[in-house]
Amino acid sequence: MLKSFFTEEHQMIRDTVKEFANDKLEPIAEKMDKEDYFPMDLFKELGELGLLAPTISEEYNGADAGYISQAIILEELARVSPAFALSIGAHSNLTADNMFRNSNEWQRETFVSKLATGEAVGALALTEPGSGSDALSMKTVAVEDGDYFLLSGAKTFITNAPVANTALVYAKTAPELGSKGISAFIMPMNSKGVSVGKHMDKMGMRGSLTSEIFMDDVAIPKTHLLGELNHANKIVMAGLSVERAVLAAISLGISKTSLEIALRYSREREQFGKPISNFQMIQDKLANIYTETKASELLVYNALAEIQDNHKANKEAASSIMYAAERSTVHALDAVQILGGYGYMREYKIEKFARDAKLLEIGAGTTEIRKIVIARDLIKNN
Ligand SMILES: Cc1cc2nc3c(=O)[nH]c(=O)nc-3n(C[C@H](O)[C@H](O)[C@H](O)COP(=O)(O)OP(=O)(O)OC[C@H]3O[C@@H](n4cnc5c(N)ncnc54)[C@H](O)[C@@H]3O)c2cc1C
Repeated sequence: MLKSFFTEEHQMIRDTVKEFANDKLEPIAEKMDKEDYFPMDLFKELGELGLLAPTISEEYNGADAGYISQAIILEELARVSPAFALSIGAHSNLTADNMFRNSNEWQRETFVSKLATGEAVGALALTEPGSGSDALSMKTVAVEDGDYFLLSGAKTFITNAPVANTALVYAKTAPELGSKGISAFIMPMNSKGVSVGKHMDKMGMRGSLTSEIFMDDVAIPKTHLLGELNHANKIVMAGLSVERAVLAAISLGISKTSLEIALRYSREREQFGKPISNFQMIQDKLANIYTETKASELLVYNALAEIQDNHKANKEAASSIMYAAERSTVHALDAVQILGGYGYMREYKIEKFARDAKLLEIGAGTTEIRKIVIARDLIKNN
């Protein structure tokens, strides 16, 4: 049944990313985690392979291959480095795809096409120190000043901020209208008045760089306004739905690697004179990881198929990441348990996946917010 989601093109993309991840990413994944650095050379290489803009049309240097392709790329990268997958997701989907869907011709030629090739790195700046789940209560403002908007405020937890050239920033253009007074802007990160905060030291997803962005009267030309003035709440909400469906693939990749590591080890490790895979309490974990990973896969690719046709598939997107993320944390921790003391050692790699997995229960709207989104969608539309 699952096979019906995938075409030959999808399989080719999967093979290419798998090879890239095994040959290029795997050798540095541990170092990325320890030293918390982003491998810009691999980002560029992914651009050369044409894998940074699967959902953008060919006219603007994309591959026009759809959201399922985007998820396949993230899933395969996440099987080796969830952190690298997160940074690519923030660049390709949160920023480039979101910009592409809402931009005009000039903006696509000027900004989107450079994000598509990897000539520029993208970041999406929505969250603020005082507004996370309640994102639309943001305090950043953009005040009209002749041909410009002057942006002032602070954004936090922004993936790729330290390496980004172009940010998609949300700001209030009519604060008195609340969530109906938000606009979206394309902000070159080298604009006067933009500064990036200190390196944020994280529990996991190390190697995906995260920082604050500060804006002090940053003059952004009016031509950089994305979509309609005061109507960006729709861009935020549709963007979050797409983002949830796409990033859920990172959790799926983590679950698949957890199963692979746990299975391999349980066959090799002997206690009481036999492989630990002979013990039923180990088998219980393996069976659960397998079954729930398959369930995640179905939910994730089903949501993506819906998203492809309807960017507002809210409950499908939210439920796919809610389930896949929660289960992947359990799967990675269960794999640690199967490896016993060795699982707790960095050398055996699985503890890193457990730390990385937790982020997907928080970023792109927390588990709690996803439940609210699902219930609201059900109540309103059924
Ligand atoms: C590594 C990382 C990368 C990120 N990357 C980006 C990025 O690139 N761009 C960006 O804009 N943001 C990014 N974020 C921010 C992320 O989206 C937010 O952290 C997230 O939305 C939660 O906001 P918060 O941290 O302020 O938590 P809060 O909103 O303060 O929530 C705290 C707790 O309260 C719960 N809660 C809140 N409201 C409710 C409610 N109504 N009912 C029940 N429970 C509730 C939450 O679920 C959570 O458990 C990133 C975060 C991290 C950690």
